[in-house]
Amino acid sequence: MRADKILANMGYGSRKEVKKLLKKGSFSVNGETVKDGKIHVDPDKDTLEVFGERLEYKQFIYLMMNKPQGYVSATEDLKESAVTEILEAEDALYNPFPVGRLDKDTTGLLLLSNDGKLAHKLTSPKKKVDKTYLVHLDSPVSEEDIDSLEKGVTLDDGYVTRPAKVERIEGKNADVVRITIHEGKFHQVKRMFQTRGKKVIRLKRERIGPLYLDETLDLGTYRELTEDELQNLI
Ligand code: URA
Repeated sequence: MRADKILANMGYGSRKEVKKLLKKGSFSVNGETVKDGKIHVDPDKDTLEVFGERLEYKQFIYLMMNKPQGYVSATEDLKESAVTEILEAEDALYNPFPVGRLDKDTTGLLLLSNDGKLAHKLTSPKKKVDKTYLVHLDSPVSEEDIDSLEKGVTLDDGYVTRPAKVERIEGKNADVVRITIHEGKFHQVKRMFQTRGKKVIRLKRERIGPLYLDETLDLGTYRELTEDELQNLI
């Protein structure tokens, strides 16, 4: 693989910036300074260093975050704090983006990656990937509410939701339920409960397809997916 491509993939800047970095002699392969970006290197076998630091090359990054409230699911935002601001610089280098959106006040499972193919697989409506949310409401949910939400409700814009699964939670009051949907309309869960006259007061995503939130992650922290989690997703 070309040296300049590796550096660009790793987030060391635009083509022009990478060229400058190379020209300055900041990149080396097996201890030898490489200034020509066209040179082919093998990231699995060669020792690559940038600014004297070992470069562990990987093309993609897959991060599971327990999203806190107060952050928007975007790579940047002029007015609000974006979830990517939580990332350490070494992870931000890969330019990961949120795979699917959670509202600013929603917490829980957010996947961040720079793998566009996986993002498409998980977010395309055609793929019908289940997403499970824990929902706290301002009033109890009746059997009639559950029946209606499961069959499909008509949202404020006339959209009729696809069948969903709504479960009560053992040991909890009837104002806390778990809902599984495979669509991702704007504010969908909140708007679904709104049709039943209920306000969502807390919303947390627990699952995307086979990927479950690691409940040991504190709010606002994240980790890379394990090999097993990744294999189940792709
Ligand atoms: N549905 C919502 O209403 N909000 C979210 O953040 C996710 C699903």
